[in-house]
Amino acid sequence: MLIVMQVDASEEQVRRVCAVIEELGYEARPMPGRQRTTVGLVGNDGRVDGSRLEALPGVSEVIHVSKPYKQVSKEWRAEPTVVKVGPGLAVGGNAVVVMAGPCSVESEAQIMAAAQAVKQHGATVLRAGAFKPRSSPYSFQGLGLEGLKLLARAREATGLRIVTEAMDPEGADLVAEYADIIQVGARNMQNYSLLKKVGKLRKPVLLKRGLSATIQELLLSAEYILAEGNPDVILCERGVRGFDSATRNLFDLSAIPVVKSVSHLPIVADPSHGVGHRDMVTPMARAAVAAGADGLLVEVHPTPDRALSDGAQSLYPEQFARMMQETRLIAEAIGRKVATA
Ligand code: PEP
Ligand code: MN
Repeated sequence: MLIVMQVDASEEQVRRVCAVIEELGYEARPMPGRQRTTVGLVGNDGRVDGSRLEALPGVSEVIHVSKPYKQVSKEWRAEPTVVKVGPGLAVGGNAVVVMAGPCSVESEAQIMAAAQAVKQHGATVLRAGAFKPRSSPYSFQGLGLEGLKLLARAREATGLRIVTEAMDPEGADLVAEYADIIQVGARNMQNYSLLKKVGKLRKPVLLKRGLSATIQELLLSAEYILAEGNPDVILCERGVRGFDSATRNLFDLSAIPVVKSVSHLPIVADPSHGVGHRDMVTPMARAAVAAGADGLLVEVHPTPDRALSDGAQSLYPEQFARMMQETRLIAEAIGRKVATA
């Protein structure tokens, strides 16, 4: 950490900064320049709260030299993390993993039809929420435990792995019993009790970017999970709040190469919540794979017009079939392939 002093800072003010640094248990190294002095804080273990130094008289700014996260960083681990999702399937290797299914589990007939359709067209993971974090308390809240049981039945029938959301620490154990991947939704990206809880479980976690979260905040949330001992985190870009209502969110494709440049964790893309309209999902799915996404999370419904949630962004099975064909071509063009069962 570097503490840059104001041009007119007095020697007394520089001494005060050094004294506070030493009081905090670190070494202070004043570096006088032609115009101003900069004080280096040596030995920062990530625990230094820069705001205490920022407010001292004579300080112009505090520059953070190292990143606030550790274990999610490439400096901590150079090789990419490959998250195993049961036997024969992994996220973060050469194969692009497609996770598809309805927003919510609605009934046995609906989830079975959805599972069969996405399996037929080449998905390897079935997505669907049993516990739904809805913006309105009057919207469909999901089938809960009954939904988890239906997902288990769909897995039995198709061999697809299951990704489904846990909304709170109390429910995470239950979700972990049924799911192959525990989803932490956008609204819960900064639910630190939930992050600590899934960090203690031995199941892969799909962590979605928060509604208005920066990439650094996403990585810090992943850090919570790794810090508790669970290394199997898959990040997910699902769009952030924008100012333009033409799409539901602003799907941030650039998050994919940004994450790849600083972290070893795999990242998948959710173009469905990213754009919110089914006709725009496939172009963004193609783009995400081209940008280096390790997988896709896509909403597909056997009858989207009757969906209890997110019908407008759910693909018809035929649209999904086409999306898969195109995605395979893009994956091949960059030396990857789409994961197969
Ligand atoms: C979902 O995946 O259905 C969902 C609720 O997504 P998000 O948390 O990204 O809004
Ligand atoms: Mn949804």
